[in-house]
Amino acid sequence: MARIYNFSAGPSTLPEAVLIKAQQEMLEWQSSGMSVMEMSHRGKDFMAIADTMKNDLIELMAIPANYKVLFLQGGASAQFAMIPQNILNGKTSACYVNTGAWSTSAIKEAAKYCEVKLVASSEDTAFTSIPAAEHWQIDTDAGYLHYTSNETIHGVEFNHVPDAKGLPLVCDMSSNILSRPVDVSRFGIIYAGTQKNMGPSGVTVVIVREDLVGLAPKSVPSVFNYEQQAKSDSMLNTPATYNWYLLGLVLQWLKGEGGVAAIEQRNINKANKLYQAIDQSSMYRNPVALDCRSRMNVPFVLADAGLDKEFLKLAEQHGLSTLAGHRSVGGMRASIYNAMPEAGVDALIEFMAEFERTH
Ligand SMILES: *Cc1c(COP(=O)(O)O)cnc(C)c1O
Repeated sequence: MARIYNFSAGPSTLPEAVLIKAQQEMLEWQSSGMSVMEMSHRGKDFMAIADTMKNDLIELMAIPANYKVLFLQGGASAQFAMIPQNILNGKTSACYVNTGAWSTSAIKEAAKYCEVKLVASSEDTAFTSIPAAEHWQIDTDAGYLHYTSNETIHGVEFNHVPDAKGLPLVCDMSSNILSRPVDVSRFGIIYAGTQKNMGPSGVTVVIVREDLVGLAPKSVPSVFNYEQQAKSDSMLNTPATYNWYLLGLVLQWLKGEGGVAAIEQRNINKANKLYQAIDQSSMYRNPVALDCRSRMNVPFVLADAGLDKEFLKLAEQHGLSTLAGHRSVGGMRASIYNAMPEAGVDALIEFMAEFERTH
């Protein structure tokens, strides 16, 4: 068996130690006589797994006591609808910042439930920048302000938490959660699908401030209601139990690596190396403004797009997989989440230099 370096944007590479642990525990979890997959979600073994997982997340992110932490289904995409359904609280509009494809999807969905006020957009730069805060037009009568802290497709990342002018700040952190410390108390809601930086797909983490829980109108379906999910510990319906377990293993791994501050240092090193290699070459180019280049998703184009296929083919032969950019933007994209080892980035940089020399 040969594991390769997988640069997929999501589902994405997992820490090998997590996969080995899951393999060891596949047939029997501790002395339970069964696999986690086969356990009742109400049983004491699974309850212990769930509690540890939740407490590890609270510890890693230093989530204050006045937040509910939910583990839901439907992905980040379900949150695009659940947020306006749950927290508008009688308001008829919500503010959105558009910095790329995922913001655009969130806006489209929210527009089914309220008037979307576009605070700022970087569409005019083909989503290679973040609009300067002084030009944001925030309507303080709106229900909340939504933004996407890392645009997975365009490789654009906020390096600060924006000022929401008193509105509840809502953030799609799907592709950079746990990659750097954040002050959770600045947010009304943080949400993230797990399949980028936290585990396999199938779970959506929703961290919601208590005052935003319990505002949904009665017409909102129970499983989409934050209050009902919070009251039942995210077990209103049968949760994705095995995925909770795997998320728990990833969190334990992250704690063992030194936590979020330690992984941030590693992420900075990995990203700096890769951007430096791109900037110093005459073959590769990253189009994103310097102050908002993503540490997680690094898109780059080749000077001659005619070489794209050859690049991808040879990369694959070198054990470097899934480097094609998103179909909407083309070129290449290396996703280098927490679980991508530094050696994987080194191997990519070496391959890129070799390809440049021979082409
Ligand atoms: C992947 C991604 C999504 C979509 O996630 P699903 O879990 O597939 O709904 C939304 N936002 C961002 C930033 C993403 O990276």
